[in-house]
Amino acid sequence: MVHLISQWITATNQHFAHQRLPCSRFSGPFTGFYSPEFLASSYYVVTEHLPKPDYPELRAAGFSDFIDMPASAITYVDTYYITPAAMASLRTHFHELVHVQQWLQLGQEGFIARYMAELGQHGYDQAPLERMAYELDGHFNARGAALPVAQFVAKNL
Ligand SMILES: [Zn+2]
Repeated sequence: MVHLISQWITATNQHFAHQRLPCSRFSGPFTGFYSPEFLASSYYVVTEHLPKPDYPELRAAGFSDFIDMPASAITYVDTYYITPAAMASLRTHFHELVHVQQWLQLGQEGFIARYMAELGQHGYDQAPLERMAYELDGHFNARGAALPVAQFVAKNL
Protein backbone atom coordinates (compact mmCIF):
# COMPACT_ATOMS: atom_id res chain seq x y z
CA MET A 1 0.00 0.00 0.00
CA VAL A 2 2.75 2.46 0.96
CA HIS A 3 4.59 1.69 -2.26
CA LEU A 4 1.44 2.19 -4.34
CA ILE A 5 0.77 5.60 -2.79
CA SER A 6 4.41 6.53 -3.15
CA GLN A 7 4.27 5.79 -6.89
CA TRP A 8 1.06 7.80 -7.20
CA ILE A 9 2.71 10.76 -5.44
CA THR A 10 5.79 10.66 -7.66
CA ALA A 11 3.57 10.58 -10.77
CA THR A 12 1.37 13.39 -9.43
CA ASN A 13 4.31 15.66 -8.68
CA GLN A 14 5.74 14.96 -12.14
CA HIS A 15 2.38 15.73 -13.72
CA PHE A 16 2.23 19.15 -12.04
CA ALA A 17 5.96 19.94 -12.25
CA HIS A 18 5.45 22.54 -15.01
CA GLN A 19 2.95 24.44 -12.81
CA ARG A 20 4.88 24.50 -9.57
CA LEU A 21 6.48 27.65 -8.20
CA PRO A 22 9.35 27.88 -5.70
CA CYS A 23 8.56 29.08 -2.16
CA SER A 24 11.39 31.63 -2.26
CA ARG A 25 8.77 34.40 -2.34
CA PHE A 26 8.16 33.69 1.36
CA SER A 27 11.78 34.19 2.42
CA GLY A 28 10.85 37.59 3.93
CA PRO A 29 7.97 36.63 6.24
CA PHE A 30 9.53 33.25 7.06
CA THR A 31 12.99 34.57 7.97
CA GLY A 32 14.35 32.68 10.97
CA PHE A 33 11.88 29.83 10.45
CA TYR A 34 12.88 28.40 7.06
CA SER A 35 16.24 28.78 5.35
CA PRO A 36 16.40 30.43 1.90
CA GLU A 37 17.85 27.18 0.51
CA PHE A 38 14.94 25.14 1.86
CA LEU A 39 12.40 27.61 0.45
CA ALA A 40 14.11 27.58 -2.95
CA SER A 41 13.80 23.79 -3.14
CA SER A 42 10.19 23.67 -1.88
CA TYR A 43 7.28 24.29 -4.25
CA TYR A 44 3.59 25.03 -4.39
CA VAL A 45 0.93 24.45 -7.02
CA VAL A 46 -2.29 26.48 -7.03
CA THR A 47 -5.27 24.32 -7.92
CA GLU A 48 -8.98 24.31 -7.16
CA HIS A 49 -9.02 20.52 -6.82
CA LEU A 50 -6.35 19.12 -4.53
CA PRO A 51 -5.02 15.81 -5.88
CA LYS A 52 -5.55 12.91 -3.47
CA PRO A 53 -4.96 9.19 -3.98
CA ASP A 54 -8.32 7.46 -4.22
CA TYR A 55 -7.79 3.70 -4.24
CA PRO A 56 -10.42 1.17 -3.17
CA GLU A 57 -7.75 -0.42 -0.96
CA LEU A 58 -7.34 2.89 0.89
CA ARG A 59 -11.07 3.20 1.45
CA ALA A 60 -11.25 -0.43 2.56
CA ALA A 61 -8.48 0.29 5.07
CA GLY A 62 -10.59 3.06 6.63
CA PHE A 63 -9.14 6.18 5.00
CA SER A 64 -12.35 7.42 3.35
CA ASP A 65 -12.70 10.28 5.84
CA PHE A 66 -9.26 11.54 4.95
CA ILE A 67 -9.80 11.17 1.20
CA ASP A 68 -13.14 13.01 1.37
CA MET A 69 -12.12 15.63 3.94
CA PRO A 70 -12.36 19.14 2.48
CA ALA A 71 -8.92 20.74 2.70
CA SER A 72 -7.26 23.97 1.64
CA ALA A 73 -3.85 22.40 1.00
CA ILE A 74 -1.98 19.10 0.95
CA THR A 75 1.75 18.30 0.79
CA TYR A 76 3.51 15.58 -1.18
CA VAL A 77 7.25 15.46 -0.59
CA ASP A 78 8.70 18.84 -1.70
CA THR A 79 5.49 20.20 -3.22
CA TYR A 80 2.23 21.34 -1.71
CA TYR A 81 -1.04 21.90 -3.49
CA ILE A 82 -3.10 24.85 -2.35
CA THR A 83 -6.50 26.22 -3.37
CA PRO A 84 -6.79 29.76 -4.79
CA ALA A 85 -8.90 30.68 -1.74
CA ALA A 86 -6.07 29.72 0.64
CA MET A 87 -3.27 31.39 -1.32
CA ALA A 88 -3.37 34.58 0.75
CA SER A 89 -3.02 32.66 4.02
CA LEU A 90 0.62 32.78 5.09
CA ARG A 91 -0.31 30.48 7.95
CA THR A 92 -1.41 27.78 5.48
CA HIS A 93 1.85 28.10 3.54
CA PHE A 94 3.75 27.88 6.81
CA HIS A 95 1.82 24.76 7.84
CA GLU A 96 2.47 22.95 4.58
CA LEU A 97 6.16 23.82 4.74
CA VAL A 98 6.33 22.06 8.12
CA HIS A 99 5.07 18.99 6.26
CA VAL A 100 7.70 19.46 3.51
CA GLN A 101 10.32 19.43 6.25
CA GLN A 102 8.77 16.28 7.77
CA TRP A 103 8.80 14.56 4.36
CA LEU A 104 12.43 15.56 3.91
CA GLN A 105 13.46 14.10 7.26
CA LEU A 106 11.33 10.95 7.18
CA GLY A 107 11.83 10.10 3.50
CA GLN A 108 9.02 9.55 1.02
CA GLU A 109 7.92 6.07 2.07
CA GLY A 110 8.79 6.77 5.70
CA PHE A 111 6.43 9.73 5.80
CA ILE A 112 3.61 7.83 4.09
CA ALA A 113 3.89 4.85 6.44
CA ARG A 114 4.00 7.04 9.52
CA TYR A 115 1.20 9.36 8.43
CA MET A 116 -1.10 6.44 7.62
CA ALA A 117 -0.32 4.77 10.93
CA GLU A 118 -1.06 8.00 12.80
CA LEU A 119 -4.32 8.57 10.92
CA GLY A 120 -5.41 5.05 11.76
CA GLN A 121 -4.41 5.32 15.41
CA HIS A 122 -5.23 8.92 16.30
CA GLY A 123 -7.40 10.36 13.52
CA TYR A 124 -6.48 13.51 11.61
CA ASP A 125 -6.93 16.05 14.43
CA GLN A 126 -4.75 14.18 16.90
CA ALA A 127 -2.15 12.78 14.49
CA PRO A 128 1.26 13.81 15.89
CA LEU A 129 2.60 14.97 12.50
CA GLU A 130 -0.44 17.26 12.17
CA ARG A 131 -0.26 18.46 15.76
CA MET A 132 3.37 19.45 15.22
CA ALA A 133 2.42 21.41 12.08
CA TYR A 134 -0.50 23.14 13.83
CA GLU A 135 1.61 23.96 16.87
CA LEU A 136 4.24 25.60 14.67
CA ASP A 137 1.83 27.48 12.40
CA GLY A 138 0.03 28.75 15.51
CA HIS A 139 3.34 29.96 16.94
CA PHE A 140 4.14 31.74 13.67
CA ASN A 141 0.65 33.22 13.43
CA ALA A 142 0.88 34.57 16.98
CA ARG A 143 4.08 36.40 15.91
CA GLY A 144 6.16 34.05 18.03
CA ALA A 145 9.94 34.36 18.09
CA ALA A 146 11.87 32.98 15.12
CA LEU A 147 12.54 29.27 15.47
CA PRO A 148 14.34 27.08 12.92
CA VAL A 149 11.63 24.62 11.86
CA ALA A 150 14.14 22.08 10.51
CA GLN A 151 15.68 21.71 13.97
CA PHE A 152 12.34 21.67 15.73
CA VAL A 153 11.11 18.87 13.46
CA ALA A 154 14.34 16.89 13.92
CA LYS A 155 13.96 17.09 17.70
CA ASN A 156 10.26 16.29 17.78
CA LEU A 157 9.79 13.58 15.16
ZN1 LIG B 1 -1.33 19.38 7.91
